[in-house]
Amino acid sequence: MNLTNFRFEADSDGIATATWDMPGRSMNVITPEVMGELDQIIDAVVADEAIKGCVITSGKESFSGGADLTMLQGLRDLYVKLAKEKGEQVALQSFFDESRKLSLLYRKLETCGKPFAAAIHGVCLGGAFELSLACQYRVVSDDASTRVGLPEIKVGLFPGAGGTQRVARLMQTGDALQMMFKGEQVKPLPARNSGLVHAVAPRADIVQNARDWLKANPQATQPWDQKGFKLPSGKVHSPAGMQIWPPASAIYRRETNDNYPAARAILSAVYEGLQLPIDLALKVESRYFAKILRTKEAASMIRSLFVSMQELNKGARRPAEVPPSKLKKVGIVGAGFMGAGIAYVTALAGLDVVLIDRDIEAAEKGKAYSHKLVSDQIMKGRAKTADRDALLARITPSADYAALKGCDLVIEAVFEDPKVKAEVIAAVEAAVGPKTIFGSNTSTLPITGLAQTSQRPKNFIGIHFFSPVEKMLLVEVIMAKKTGDKALAMALDYVRAIKKTPIVVNDARGFYANRCVGNYLREGHLMLMEGIPPAMIEAAGKQAGMPVGPLSLNDEVAIDLALKIVKATKAQLGPEAIDPAQEKLLTEMVETHGRLGRKNRKGFYDYPEGGGPKRLWPGLADIVGGRLAPELVDMEELQQRLLVTQALEAAKTYEEGVVTDPREADVGSIIGFGFAPYSGGTLSFIDNMGAAAFVKLCEKLAKRHGERFKPNRLLKRMAKTGESFYGAAEKKAVA
Ligand code: NAD
Repeated sequence: MNLTNFRFEADSDGIATATWDMPGRSMNVITPEVMGELDQIIDAVVADEAIKGCVITSGKESFSGGADLTMLQGLRDLYVKLAKEKGEQVALQSFFDESRKLSLLYRKLETCGKPFAAAIHGVCLGGAFELSLACQYRVVSDDASTRVGLPEIKVGLFPGAGGTQRVARLMQTGDALQMMFKGEQVKPLPARNSGLVHAVAPRADIVQNARDWLKANPQATQPWDQKGFKLPSGKVHSPAGMQIWPPASAIYRRETNDNYPAARAILSAVYEGLQLPIDLALKVESRYFAKILRTKEAASMIRSLFVSMQELNKGARRPAEVPPSKLKKVGIVGAGFMGAGIAYVTALAGLDVVLIDRDIEAAEKGKAYSHKLVSDQIMKGRAKTADRDALLARITPSADYAALKGCDLVIEAVFEDPKVKAEVIAAVEAAVGPKTIFGSNTSTLPITGLAQTSQRPKNFIGIHFFSPVEKMLLVEVIMAKKTGDKALAMALDYVRAIKKTPIVVNDARGFYANRCVGNYLREGHLMLMEGIPPAMIEAAGKQAGMPVGPLSLNDEVAIDLALKIVKATKAQLGPEAIDPAQEKLLTEMVETHGRLGRKNRKGFYDYPEGGGPKRLWPGLADIVGGRLAPELVDMEELQQRLLVTQALEAAKTYEEGVVTDPREADVGSIIGFGFAPYSGGTLSFIDNMGAAAFVKLCEKLAKRHGERFKPNRLLKRMAKTGESFYGAAEKKAVA
């Protein structure tokens, strides 16, 4: 055998072990080479009479994250090329054959006549978990890091190497569908209890456990290859099946709003596959897989949520000539809502934190937030008491700016008031050395303006977090006019250290993310004032693919904050910069009715004191006046308005040079404010529709709903030339 990605050896009992350990990589992934070597291993196991069975395990800290998604992207490129050269039919056949190879390989493994067992420690996901599902036995370590699952749906795909069929033959159908729809990563015990794996053992014992099982079961075959095999939930067409399938379709709709072709394919592949013998069922799955792989949803999601995200995380925008920062100590000024969260994620990354507020009590309170968050983790079994002690020991609360001495980076999160910020900037600069970088977490004040009060504008940068800090993955890094490369490199090194994803934008009111999401809120407000029933507005937001409707979202971010922003915009840019209907709604909500949002349990919704589901506030009808009859409302147009207003704003930020890279606009929009993930993000949304069609839609909406939908110059030019955001970016990169 000619192996580079596996080590293969057999013991005196005739049990072979294939240890997957790819050279030069921290994590195993499925590549064409790995597939070729697995094929050789199966042949060798079959050919050698002395071998009774084979354990597959990993030589790395983790089993494997699954298939190399760029390999799948390559298949799509091959398809396009072949279609051009040899026609659609040949291209489709080749695409189907190629995209099925992994599935056929796994079927070969499970029917080769000798049993395989997977010994799993760490993550075992996607195509790697499908490999283990093809093994007759699976044992996982009882380690906290061990997870099995099929998360393909998260990048617009679905398990296409047998996963849909094997999981649905191991688990109750409802659980199998749920696991795949959500892309759940399952911990060891629930995995064993639901039938996904056979055993849980200490890490040091998993390989021996698998060997022992193979020795005891040399004739083992998969349950579905045995005569009389019964599906865990019974036949599809049976009284039991009728309890499962109609609700399954309803759950699918509820969870996806039919926006994710891959989720629909899971439903169909399982429904059809469970009525067929396994080989045919696998073929059905392959057909759906080939179809899904060619959808624009899969292409866009793989690009934004896998490829671009990795590139940004690895520092695509970092100035290469600046050596890596030796980041050890970070100062945070303002230990309020945001500062406390920033302190937590910074200490969690192993960095020392000095947490400053106006008095020591406030600083201590900020630190107490970290105590609460780790304690929650301990309760959930995700952290140990020792972790809490170590994390808290890294945070030093203080009211004395002198404690900031020696900080590599200081981030301010004090009140959103330029005067307060200016005082803080001066106090920090007096306390730290000339090399310390200063980051502001302001959400609305232009960074260039704040930097004017700084003695060291080169060191001054925006580091804009989203709330809640410990959950939100995005950090917007904002370049002021004079921000230098060292500040940018430090900000990006810091974001990387705290394991978040950065986008780098140029300075402007609202930067990037808040401008787009602000439009989403405004559109919801304006719809309400048009008399559209609020429940329909909320439903339209979700049907369009947003995580929550615009009114719910506004309740979360606070209605008084929205009013404050509208007032500030009016004061600075004049009355024509805002919409009077929106101003009226927000003013009445906040100033007349004291409705601030979830924080005082009174917003567009009422939040019952003792918990329970929130309900739309009936008083909305009085503010709005008349309400349109639901049958007069065009739901499709509501959805268009809610997405177009955000995508158009993104295109404007691109034209203005606020966002300079479509990858950042897309990734930022999905992880920053949940913009319809299936679209691949704000600019992919436009590219996928085509600039010409998008401009036409904007013009239609502008005619019906006002100037705010008028397409900008850039889009109109793109509509004429047929250019796309990614096409232009590629050209720029080549030039
Ligand atoms: P907050 O009111 O909860 O916290 C501000 C903290 O700053 C308070 O603890 C206050 O005592 C402290 N402070 C004020 N003046 C100070 C001074 N001179 N020295 C030291 N400490 C001082 O506010 P927040 O919501 O955490 O917002 C802080 C900043 O983060 C603002 O600039 C805001 O725009 C920005 N931001 C907020 C959000 C959000 O969702 N709340 C999101 C992104 C950015």
